[in-house]
Amino acid sequence: MTLKGWNEVPMAGLVLDAGNAAEYHTGDWRTERPVWDEEKCKHCMQCWITCPDTAIQVKDKKMIGIDFDYCKGCGICADECPFDAIDMIEEDLEAE
Ligand code: SF4
Ligand code: SF4
Repeated sequence: MTLKGWNEVPMAGLVLDAGNAAEYHTGDWRTERPVWDEEKCKHCMQCWITCPDTAIQVKDKKMIGIDFDYCKGCGICADECPFDAIDMIEEDLEAE
């Protein structure tokens, strides 16, 4: 058997356009969701800094909520909030 050379092998994988992350609403991967307590929030932005999915919504330098289109429910924001203003709950409980 003769092996193919590198330039005879067909291109593999799917090539995606750059900058397309906004098109993929990855929030449906979530099994838990963060619940934000606005009363406890001091707008320190620790959650915004540490959220790996840029799902913390900010306006005028204040947290205003969580974008559930992109939040994957990792719980980092709840772990990092120094004021216990975010709790994680099971996604199914939110639906009830
Ligand atoms: S880390 Fe906590 S207190 Fe700070 S902005 Fe986020 S929810 Fe508010
Ligand atoms: S649970 Fe994870 S993805 Fe969702 S807002 Fe918090 S840090 Fe971001």
